[in-house]
Amino acid sequence: MRSKAILILKENELKITQNRLDVLSVFLCSEKAFSLLDLEKILGDKHDRSSIFRSLQTYNEKGLLEKFCNSSGTAVYTLNLHQPNCDGKSHFKCKDCETVVSLPNLPQEYLQFLGNHKIETMNVLIEGTCEKCQNQDKIE
Ligand SMILES: [Zn+2]
Repeated sequence: MRSKAILILKENELKITQNRLDVLSVFLCSEKAFSLLDLEKILGDKHDRSSIFRSLQTYNEKGLLEKFCNSSGTAVYTLNLHQPNCDGKSHFKCKDCETVVSLPNLPQEYLQFLGNHKIETMNVLIEGTCEKCQNQDKIE
């Protein structure tokens, strides 16, 4: 994961720092969305809150991480690896394992419905239970 993180930093012309590598590695190791508090719990003994936050901001500006609010209103970040037809604005989040899946762009009809309204932020979050977690419930 470390070498992949270094590669991503280089590709995006970002200076390689220990903090940036550690933050990015957390996201590369998991398909979950993380809040600042989550990352503080994981990296807290190595990095302080403000430097973790700065890395998150940098990644968000570069489009590497997508920021959205979960259903409890907490801002969370998830890796945005630019899949085709995914603008990183729509996600499905499993309430059990917290896995986040990027969804394809919203159909034009959705946006046309809004007519001339000016859109400032566009984050669609669908929450539920993923297929894997549903099957686990059956076994238990
Ligand atoms: Zn799940």
